[in-house]
Amino acid sequence: MSSSGFASQNGAGGSYANGPSQNPVGVYPSNQGFMAPPQPGYMNNLPTKGPPPPPPSGPNLYGRHQPSPVGTPGALPASPNHMSVLTGPPQGTATPPPANSYYQQHPHQPGWSGVTPPPPMGNNASPVPSAMYRGGTSTPPVFQNAMQPPAPSVNNAAMTAPPALNVLAPHQTYGPPVGPPPPAAVRGTPPPPVPPPPHATHSDGMYPAHPGQMHRPMGGSYPSLQPGYQSVPGMQTAPQMPPHAQMQTQPQPQMYPQPSPGAAQLSSSLASLSLQSQTPEALRVVNLLQERSILPPGAVTPPTPCLPQDLQKINCSPEVFRCTLTSIPQTQTLLNKAKLPLGLLLHPFKDLSVSHVISPDHHCSTLSSPVTQLPVVTSSNIVRCRSCRTYINPFVTFVDARRWKCNLCHRVNDVPEEFMYNPVSRSYGAPHKRPEVQNATIEFIAPSEYMLRPPQPAMYLYILDVSHNAVETGYLDVVCQSLLDNLDSLPGDARTKIGFITFDSTIHFYNLQEGLSQPQMLIVSDIDDVFLPTPDSLLVNLNECKELVQDLLSSLPQMFSKTMETQSALGPALQAAFKLLSPTGGRMSVFQTQLPTVGIGALKPREEPNQKTATKDVQHLSPATDFYKKLALDCSGQHVAVDLFLLSAQYCDLSSLGCISRYSAGSVYFYPSYHKQHNPSQTERLQKDLKRYLTRKIGFEAVMRIRCTKGLSIHTFHGNFFVRSTDLLSLANVNPDAGFAVQMSIDENLLDLQVVSFQAALLYTSSKGERRIRVHTLCLPVVNSLSDIFAGADVQAITALLASMAVDRSVTASLSDARDALINAAIDSLASYRTSVLSIQQPGLLAPACLRLFPLYVLALLKHKAFRTSASTRLDERVFAMCQFKYQPLAYLMMMVHPGLYRVDDLTDEGALNINDRTIPQPRALQLSVEKLSRDAAFLMDCGTVMYLWIGRNCSPVFLTQVLGLESYAAVPLHMTQLPELDTAESARLRAFVDWLRERRPFHTILHVIRDESPLKPEFLQNMIEDLSESALSYYEFLLHLQQQISK
Ligand SMILES: [Zn+2]
Repeated sequence: MSSSGFASQNGAGGSYANGPSQNPVGVYPSNQGFMAPPQPGYMNNLPTKGPPPPPPSGPNLYGRHQPSPVGTPGALPASPNHMSVLTGPPQGTATPPPANSYYQQHPHQPGWSGVTPPPPMGNNASPVPSAMYRGGTSTPPVFQNAMQPPAPSVNNAAMTAPPALNVLAPHQTYGPPVGPPPPAAVRGTPPPPVPPPPHATHSDGMYPAHPGQMHRPMGGSYPSLQPGYQSVPGMQTAPQMPPHAQMQTQPQPQMYPQPSPGAAQLSSSLASLSLQSQTPEALRVVNLLQERSILPPGAVTPPTPCLPQDLQKINCSPEVFRCTLTSIPQTQTLLNKAKLPLGLLLHPFKDLSVSHVISPDHHCSTLSSPVTQLPVVTSSNIVRCRSCRTYINPFVTFVDARRWKCNLCHRVNDVPEEFMYNPVSRSYGAPHKRPEVQNATIEFIAPSEYMLRPPQPAMYLYILDVSHNAVETGYLDVVCQSLLDNLDSLPGDARTKIGFITFDSTIHFYNLQEGLSQPQMLIVSDIDDVFLPTPDSLLVNLNECKELVQDLLSSLPQMFSKTMETQSALGPALQAAFKLLSPTGGRMSVFQTQLPTVGIGALKPREEPNQKTATKDVQHLSPATDFYKKLALDCSGQHVAVDLFLLSAQYCDLSSLGCISRYSAGSVYFYPSYHKQHNPSQTERLQKDLKRYLTRKIGFEAVMRIRCTKGLSIHTFHGNFFVRSTDLLSLANVNPDAGFAVQMSIDENLLDLQVVSFQAALLYTSSKGERRIRVHTLCLPVVNSLSDIFAGADVQAITALLASMAVDRSVTASLSDARDALINAAIDSLASYRTSVLSIQQPGLLAPACLRLFPLYVLALLKHKAFRTSASTRLDERVFAMCQFKYQPLAYLMMMVHPGLYRVDDLTDEGALNINDRTIPQPRALQLSVEKLSRDAAFLMDCGTVMYLWIGRNCSPVFLTQVLGLESYAAVPLHMTQLPELDTAESARLRAFVDWLRERRPFHTILHVIRDESPLKPEFLQNMIEDLSESALSYYEFLLHLQQQISK
């Protein structure tokens, strides 16, 4: 919390602050919560927009090691514009965040720093500060009754005058009184406010040429506009549009001619958005101190953006694209007031062939339909905005038959002649029915102009540690066997190439040239100046040389079984691998089992033995050397990604080694305490992970660009990549398991807009050598009231983004800073809600229902391996947890943040899912507290990469015999990782449930069956987030703490 932490952030570059062109510092001034308004002098720290500028101070890797454009003629030049990313006028003085003052004035408030406050979990135990009753600061309700009268007739309104924004269509049933009124006791708000009347400016300016469309920045009237659509010819709105027979006779999902009735309807739909967003549930006031059961029975589902349902129906799936706020604030000032972070969470290359099932618990009627199939379009002319290069998408507007308006920059573009033909319906003249305008997620097979060079073949290079330590762990057998098993399933085509390098204190190459009778090993012992002995025969065509490759894989584990070589020359081995792959690009898979000890990149142990991080800050979260980052940037420039598999019982300095993957868009896998004999469950995990890793889809030489509607800007990226320019991420490889996050700010007020859009375009080379572009477009409403912003808050997305921000903060400042900022995020947003949204003050810790899980999630983060201070945590494990936060897609990340807990000894088929003739029980999710355990039952805890099946001492013998195949509790082994396949209904149910959970993630989950005496019991209990632990607060105490701060 010192200001020195702030200064040093810039220089550090942040081992987790990805890419030099962003600077996480900017978004977290010290002593502030994450969402603190910009401070004077803080602008300079935000070089977010613009060229990949060097970090403002400190050693600048970027400047010296900008990826060379070799092999990519025309590699994108750095954009020269250095736009200010910031944000509205500072308004920090207007609403002083209570949290900050707290942390400045009471840094060691006992309740938080260890001394245990009063007993947890009494329902009425909350001592309510008297201040809470005053309610003096509450804003008067903005509610007006103006909207209550019945809506005027739509047709009249639409035909005679520019429709008022707030016109309610007769069929609209949204409105304050709609919906089951919540119980009076918890209902603190008056009927929800109504949006103010439209700004006068709305009727001018925006769409002058087409009065009927004034209020329609998005393209779609979609199915509900059908009737209006059919009356096109008589409509005033598109005079230049020729009546077109086809258009009139076919249903129009895309509003194209935009007749007035449609316009009115859309306007009314838009008007209803605000009302809709005020659904009693999202803004239902929850007193967290009283309402204990805040977990939904099943999975937490993302909020549905308040768009007209027909528009929302084609919106991008939340599994691919989520925003922390599903209602975008109109101004940065408003965003600052809400004290919630604005950002996007992306899973852009997600496997889309998988079918998704929505549990019966969920109200899925208005959810975006899950993307189950990816439409792929071959087009010689991909239609894009001439000004901002946005791909045409469902949210553009067709201003007439031949012109469309970009939903990002608002430029009006011509519709190309060939786009008038719809290959799907084989009809002409209906551009709005093209698949590009019907699908928020789509993939193009790109024409040659999207290639800077011929698409590269799939290239795989394996770099294997064969030191004594490595051989000891036995990992080599698993890796070689997995490769042998999956050799025919590696993504690729006839051009696929493969190669191997092994290393200890020297580097070993393998000549696999066709014609040799067996692989030829070539040893290079000069690790200071590594050269390639036979450059042309080290990477060979997999099909042509498959037998040699199989020979090598079969013999490798034995070749080094007697080695006594303990040194590790990882750095030189990586340099050699880079030389080998740089002419083409490709994927390096590096397996490392110890700290690199010789040659460039050698590292020294930095972990303090028995490091207990009670209240002290954790050291050595940033890299010890810039070697790995520099090499990664070189790799990125040559389209080489490095995936790191770290298998070790010892400290390996993941914070240094991880840079090699982080900046080259690779993945990091970590198997602590890996040993074939001593830790068999890790072996199982490695095998399963490798199968997925080796066979999953891969994209080579990829870039991803994220665009947003003018007025919004992106300023900080999270994930593994290299930031090449303001909005362009360089991804040497892209894989389907990678997630990304970006933070955004509102540079210009969005006053004239009712919706904004975000578009992520991922250009990559498939393993078959096709250049492809996957485009996702998300559309969200713009709102102008705090209550609407809160109503649209996506608590999981917020939590995930905050976790990424906190990782940056831990590295650039300190762990305690990051923890403070997390707590402040909860305090500030709930304080803002209390003072600015709630109109009737009431005692307690109040949250809108949509954010009721926020304090719980923040507490979960504070107790997570990444950020905890309460328990001894190995440094590499902490760093790995931080890597996961930056890299995992939201859905998987949340499994790790807040584990699922289910009672499983009484599973039934009631409410079960039925997928492909499998019946999958759906037990209710329980609070993470030992209170929920009972000795006569069994519970499953799902923590993402690990599950615990806890067996109570008095668990029913039926469960023990029918599910575990054991006679008694005492017979439960101390190490048990498999559920026997018994022919009983009980066994089938539990296995179905566990399998179903496992299938929902791309990594393997180890299952540990545990009982009271098991060595893993403490780990199981550590996940009981709601309970008091060593020196961390219980959930209830945490709530009291928040309440105290908020009512100050
Ligand atoms: Zn544009």
